[in-house]
Amino acid sequence: MYYYYCNRTSVYFLQNCYYYRYYTQGTMSSTQTIETYVSEITLKIMDADYLYLDNLYETLQKMKGSSKQKHEDNYWKVLQCLGETTSDAMVKALVRCELGSCKYHINRNLFVLASVFMDMLTSVAAIKHINLYKDKVVPVLFKMLRQREILELSRTGFACLYRCLLFGKFSFVEIYLRHNIFRDIQECIKCRLSFYSMPTLEAIEYCIKMLLAMAVLGGTNTQRRMKSSQALKVLMEYIKILKLNNQMEKNLILSCRKSVLCFQCDSLIEILYGETEENLKDTWDPKDKLNEELADEVHYFCSCPSCRKPYSEKEKFLYCGACKLSRYCSEKCQKEHWKNGHKLVCLKEQLKDSDFQFKTLKTIESQTK
Ligand SMILES: [Zn+2]
Ligand SMILES: [Zn+2]
Repeated sequence: MYYYYCNRTSVYFLQNCYYYRYYTQGTMSSTQTIETYVSEITLKIMDADYLYLDNLYETLQKMKGSSKQKHEDNYWKVLQCLGETTSDAMVKALVRCELGSCKYHINRNLFVLASVFMDMLTSVAAIKHINLYKDKVVPVLFKMLRQREILELSRTGFACLYRCLLFGKFSFVEIYLRHNIFRDIQECIKCRLSFYSMPTLEAIEYCIKMLLAMAVLGGTNTQRRMKSSQALKVLMEYIKILKLNNQMEKNLILSCRKSVLCFQCDSLIEILYGETEENLKDTWDPKDKLNEELADEVHYFCSCPSCRKPYSEKEKFLYCGACKLSRYCSEKCQKEHWKNGHKLVCLKEQLKDSDFQFKTLKTIESQTK
């Protein structure tokens, strides 16, 4: 299957022959339970079946936006279950994809994986796994950010980096500095100087948010590097021209976005040069920012497959003591789930496996030479 991916004509051949299958792949059939569906997805992720994953993403979006409560609930149940059981396979697949794809398809394959992954990022489980393998995953995220073929993939890369920073805090600041993130921010803004459309403003806003997070989490050392970076100079230049632009006031949405941008930029300057630094640091909370990022209201359910009771404010759910990811309405459910499978996928077990090897085509090739 994977072999076909490297040959354009074969892909068309494959798509025509399996026309029907192509359009039904990735959807959840009515006879499937959440568990069988999720284990099917896990296998496809481990198999690097990008065609399937492409359809899966569409299906998940449809489920999420469905007018029927049952479908929407299923979306959150699948996502929660995916986060608990598949994050590990997913993170490994992201790393393998970068090392194992041919140069023609690497961005497309990354895009397919990242689209599903981005949805999974709403699950804190996925971010925890990135934290586990950060040295291997962060370079992939930067690669996504730096490629120029698929615009959406750059955005996804940037968003992933930002969310990981909010979760992993200082340990990520160091890695990002090593990858020269200020340079990426500088180029992102420089490419957009004197452009003011909505996507542009959104991109610039992400840059400022990233700088803000780096400045607060990274402390004085990071701030010093930021002050002398070109990124900050270019940003100031952009904001200066933006403030002078009167045309935008005619468009309510644009002018709103403009004032948000200017406000955030002022906060950044205050952190870097202001005297009330401490106050801002106290009010800027990574947890709040992460919740802001995952603006969708996340629905939780009891992780025990035979229960899946929806979470409500009234009764407190229990967490699995080892991974603190799976959640249960009762001790009975927790015990039942542990016996019936969670024991095998609990993050605590995977932590033992954290030094796992990424055997790839490249290393095999270099060994045989
Ligand atoms: Zn339960
Ligand atoms: Zn657990």
